[in-house]
Amino acid sequence: MSVPARIDLHTHSTASDGTLGPAELVRAAADAGLHVVALTDHDTTAGWAAAVAALPPGLTLVRGAELSCRWSGTEPALPLHLLAYLFDPAEPELAAELARVRRVREERGERIVRLLQADGISVSWSEILAGAAGGTVGRPHIAQALIRAGLVATTTEAFGRDWLGERYRLPKDDIDVFRAVALVRAAGGVPVFAHPRASRRGRIVPDELITALTAAGLAGLEADHEDHSPAEREHVRRLAAELGLLVTGASDFHGTHKTVRLGAYTTAPEAYERIVALARGVTPVASG
Ligand code: AMP
Ligand code: FE
Ligand code: FE
Ligand code: ZN
Repeated sequence: MSVPARIDLHTHSTASDGTLGPAELVRAAADAGLHVVALTDHDTTAGWAAAVAALPPGLTLVRGAELSCRWSGTEPALPLHLLAYLFDPAEPELAAELARVRRVREERGERIVRLLQADGISVSWSEILAGAAGGTVGRPHIAQALIRAGLVATTTEAFGRDWLGERYRLPKDDIDVFRAVALVRAAGGVPVFAHPRASRRGRIVPDELITALTAAGLAGLEADHEDHSPAEREHVRRLAAELGLLVTGASDFHGTHKTVRLGAYTTAPEAYERIVALARGVTPVASG
């Protein structure tokens, strides 16, 4: 690979809660000067084919997903996100779990809408589903309905405590994180813990869990992420060095649902090469 390569390993398209289609996303990634981009939609691989088909020259696509997980070692269980790279999307157990989580997301979204309606807030589930346009439904789609209804001005405000951040936040039945790591490995994929210290998102997991996940097959930690403070990034780096884990950085781009730009945070070529070397599911795709 020519140096210096610009590598962004965490992005979302309209296959989940991003606002660019997968084809638009890879074009935008090339325009942003990236050499490698990973498409990591929540609990789905639905965007992979369109991203591959639209891949511009000079850009390599890493096919991935961000799995909605939970750790039951504390009460109530902690939700967390696991990035999975280059796994075989046809592996039946993993594919079935992703399909189950997508269903659970729809049920939970509909329950949130009923809670809002019970408080006299006029939002429509069918309109929110239509807004997701077949992609994995998430709170950002409900946030858009709150904006359309004039109740909040921005997505950030919609994630405040009075709205989807607390009052109208409901848990969903996510994948047990140890099971998720095992399923990703069994599908030939490489699991990386997304934004593990993002305390501004809520409660964070103890380092002991990351140690246990490493023994179970976790390959890396995302350190450089906008939701990590400099001290949190440093903590993640130290922990990764102790445990022999690889370290990534990424934008977690969501189009206009967030303000972060593609390539705002990047991954070192050595870490990317470790991911590729570990993968047994699918390969990175470079355009013709
Ligand atoms: P869900 O997966 O339905 O629980 O919704 C979580 C998603 O909402 C995350 O993946 C982010 O895309 C988005 N999100 C979470 N917090 C915020 C925030 N404060 N501002 C904007 N988007 C957020
Ligand atoms: Fe998201
Ligand atoms: Fe995430
Ligand atoms: Zn993400």
